[in-house]
Amino acid sequence: MATDDNTTSLNGIGVSPGLVAGPVARMAPGISEPAVATLPAEADVETECERIAEAAQTVKKGLELSAAEAKGEGRTLLETTAQMAADPTLTSSAQAMVKERRLVPERAVWEAAGSLASMLESLGGYMAERTRDVQDVRDRIVAVLTDSPMPGIPRLPEPFILVAEDLAPADTALLDPEKVIAFITSEGGPTSHTAILARALGLPAIVGAGTAVTDRLSDGHIVLVDGTKGTITLNPSEDELRRARELANRVRVFNGDGATKDGHEVQLLANVGDAAGARAAAEAGAMGVGLFRTEFCFLDQPEEPTVEAQVEAYRGVLEAFPGKKVVVRTLDAGADKPLPFLTDATEANPALGVRAYRTTRRDPEVLEHQLEALAKAEAETDAKVWVMAPMISTTEEARAFTDKARTYGLKTAGMMIEVPSAALMADKMFEHADFASIGTNDLTQYVMAADRLLSSLADLSTAWQPAVLRLIKAACDGAAPHGRPVGVCGEAAADPALAVVLVGLGVASLSMTARALPDVDAVMKSVDLADAKRLAELAIAQPTAEAAREAVRAELPILEELGL
Ligand code: PEP
Ligand code: MG
Repeated sequence: MATDDNTTSLNGIGVSPGLVAGPVARMAPGISEPAVATLPAEADVETECERIAEAAQTVKKGLELSAAEAKGEGRTLLETTAQMAADPTLTSSAQAMVKERRLVPERAVWEAAGSLASMLESLGGYMAERTRDVQDVRDRIVAVLTDSPMPGIPRLPEPFILVAEDLAPADTALLDPEKVIAFITSEGGPTSHTAILARALGLPAIVGAGTAVTDRLSDGHIVLVDGTKGTITLNPSEDELRRARELANRVRVFNGDGATKDGHEVQLLANVGDAAGARAAAEAGAMGVGLFRTEFCFLDQPEEPTVEAQVEAYRGVLEAFPGKKVVVRTLDAGADKPLPFLTDATEANPALGVRAYRTTRRDPEVLEHQLEALAKAEAETDAKVWVMAPMISTTEEARAFTDKARTYGLKTAGMMIEVPSAALMADKMFEHADFASIGTNDLTQYVMAADRLLSSLADLSTAWQPAVLRLIKAACDGAAPHGRPVGVCGEAAADPALAVVLVGLGVASLSMTARALPDVDAVMKSVDLADAKRLAELAIAQPTAEAAREAVRAELPILEELGL
C-alpha cells in the first residue's frame, strides 16, 4: 500500500494482531523466469528429459523430508506439495516440450507449469488455490536444474520478522514460530493463506503492504510491526522497543472460564477442522468446539467418504472434548471450498450457487450419510454433539434440516446464519432451530456483496460494517423470545474488540482459532455486560465500519495495554 510522507512507517492490511520488534529477514528471491532457449545441437534429448525427472524426484524427496519434521497442518501441506512434485503430469509435459521443441529443461518446466496452473485456475475455488503449489514446485525444480539457491524461509539463529512477496503453503508450513515472530508480505489479502496461518499461529501479520516493503526493508533492519493497525515503524524509538519486549514476554493463557468482569458467562470455543486441531484446542483451554468444519476432512477426496471413514474422522474430534459441547457443521461445500463429489465446478457464480446446505437439493443422501455417521460417532464418545447446517436461507430449510437431524437421534439441531434472509427471519427460524451460529465471514460477504477472497475489497469485507452488526442484532433479537442461544463462529469472534460488541448484541458464545482465546478472554474480563451492551449500541449507531471500530476501541483501554 502506501508510504507515509516522511517514510518513517509503511502501511498494509493488519490481519493478525500483536506488536513486535525485531530484525527483518527477507525471503530468498523467487526464481526468475528462464529465457526461451533451445538445446545446443550436441545435447542429448533423452539425457535432458532424464534430468527433469531426477530434479522432480529431488524436490519430492526434499519436501517429504521436511514433511516428516513438520507437525499438523504443516505436515499435510508439505505432503500435498510433495505429491504435486511427484505428479507425472508436470514432468511428462515438460519432457514433451524438450523432445518436440528442444527447449532447455528449465524453460520447459516453466512453460509446463504455466499451462497446468492456468488449467487449475480455470476450475476455480479450491483447485485454483492449488496454483500456488504448482508454482512452488516449479521454482524448486528450476532451482535444482539451474543450480540456484532453493527458494524458501531463511534459516537464522535469531528470531526475525519475515518479509516476503507472499508465502506459499509449503513455506508457511515450515515456519518455526520460535524463530519467525511476525510476517509482512507485499501481496495477499485478509483471507489469504498467509493471513489465516498467521492467526492460527498467533503471530502478528501485515499483508498487502505493496512493493515498498520489499524495496525498503533490508536484512537486519530493526522494525516495529503492529498487526492490529497494519503499520511497520522503520526506526522505532527505545520506548517503542521496550514496550514491544514487555508485550512479547506477556504470558497468554486461557483457563476455560470465559465471562465478563461481572461474571456473565461467555462461552469461548474453538474452530477446528480435524482431530489434531481439536486436541490442540482442548489444550488451549477451549470450553468446547463452536465450529467443526467437516468438509476440511474431505477436501481432496474425489468420492464421497464412506460412513465408516466419516465416523472415524468425527470421533477423533469428539474424543478431544469429553462432556463438552462440540458444534458440528454438515458439509459446507462449494465456492471457495468445492468438494469434487458434491459441487458443480461449472457454475458461473458459485458463491451464489448450489453450495452448502443447498447441495441437498441434488444429493440428499450425502447429508443422510453424514448424519448417520455423526450419530454413530456421538454414541461412541462422551461429547455433547450439536449439529448445524451451513447457509440456511429460508424457514423451510431450517425446518427440513432440523427435523432430519432429529430423526437420526441428534437431539440438538440448529443452523448457521450466513445469509441476510436468515438473520431477518430469525424469529421464525427459531421455531425450528435449537440454536444458531452466525458465520460472519459469509454474512459479511452477502450483506456487502463483496467477495470474501478479494483483497481489493478488504474495506467492505469486515464485520465492523454497521450493516453486518445490525443483522447480528436482528438475529439475536429473533432468538431472545424463544430463549435460544446464538453464537458467532466467523473471524469476527477472534477480534477482541468486536467480540465485546457481539456479546453486547446478545451473542452467547464465540468460536475462534484457539490462539485467539487468551486475548479475547482478557478483553472480555475487562468489561461488565452493561459496558458490552453500551459498546454494541455505540457501534451500530456509527455511519461507517471505521467509525464503529474506532469508537469501540477508544472505550477499551486494555487493547492498548495488551498491544492488540
Ligand atoms: C463463516 O462464513 O463465517 C464461517 C464460519 O464459515 P466458513 O468460513 O467456513 O465459510
Ligand atoms: Mg461460511
